Amino acid sequence: MSRVFLTLFILIFVKVAWAEAQIPVSRVVKINERVYALLGPMGLPSPHNQGYMVNSTVIIGDQGVILVDSGGTDEVGKHLAKAIAKITSKPVTHIINTHHHGDHVLGNVAFKGAEIISSEQCKVLVEKTGMEWVQIMENLVGRKFPNTRPVPAMLTFKEESSNGHNLQGVNMVFWVPRGSHTPGDMMVYLPDDRVLIGGDILVNTTTPVMRDANVRNWIGALAKAREFDATTIVPGHGPLMSKSDVAKLHKLLAGFYAGVEAGYKKGLSDSEIRNMLDLAEWKKLKEYEVNMGGNISRAYLEVEAANF
Ligand SMILES: [Zn+2]
Repeated sequence: MSRVFLTLFILIFVKVAWAEAQIPVSRVVKINERVYALLGPMGLPSPHNQGYMVNSTVIIGDQGVILVDSGGTDEVGKHLAKAIAKITSKPVTHIINTHHHGDHVLGNVAFKGAEIISSEQCKVLVEKTGMEWVQIMENLVGRKFPNTRPVPAMLTFKEESSNGHNLQGVNMVFWVPRGSHTPGDMMVYLPDDRVLIGGDILVNTTTPVMRDANVRNWIGALAKAREFDATTIVPGHGPLMSKSDVAKLHKLLAGFYAGVEAGYKKGLSDSEIRNMLDLAEWKKLKEYEVNMGGNISRAYLEVEAANF
């Protein structure tokens, strides 16, 4: 290899490595004067997205900012803090975590002094699985995050509860279903803004992931999500949703569960059920291949337990 060629090669390599180390910019959507969605990239954590692949919501209150979901590493948390600083000079005083999955909570550590809020089960699961999530992030992104550590909530809400709350002058309803996407989800509704923040109970254009789910409760949570008088709906992943998108997702999950149940009652195995189900709508969703096998197994176990 000639020296010129070698130099060129090194330059390209450095450029690629450098480009990969950049966290992608958020798509900022202004919902109203005080509520903004920061839409992250979609997909699994990777060297390309540096563990940033989640949506967050910024709510600007009287004296400070409430951030819903903080990203998958301390670096993503800092990245979000920079994006917030471009919108408002007020400090982040509160973080709400919609559930315990690492992509939603591991940025908490970047917001020193902020009060963290979640469901009680989410807090328990952050304490129990937080370090495993740091490892998952490190494995998928391909490097260490020595400053990322789980920070569980200080203020929690019990399951099956709906709590009216006022944070920084903003009215909020925290709705905690009895498990859905995970055992510890929480949806946030802003009645005066008519904004619903769904965490991963609501995902748009990507496959709902049932690995940690209670599918039947999830279907119930989707029915509940449809009751809120929301005009803007922020999903955990994907573009903003309308009420009809939520209705579509509700129908998709309910139809899926009913299909698995019908197959079970015919005595079919989960792979036979997969062949029998009408998955045309599912196949249009991102990450379908990665998640669908696990989803069927999860629903099958649930159906089996319910029919035992
Ligand atoms: Zn997620």
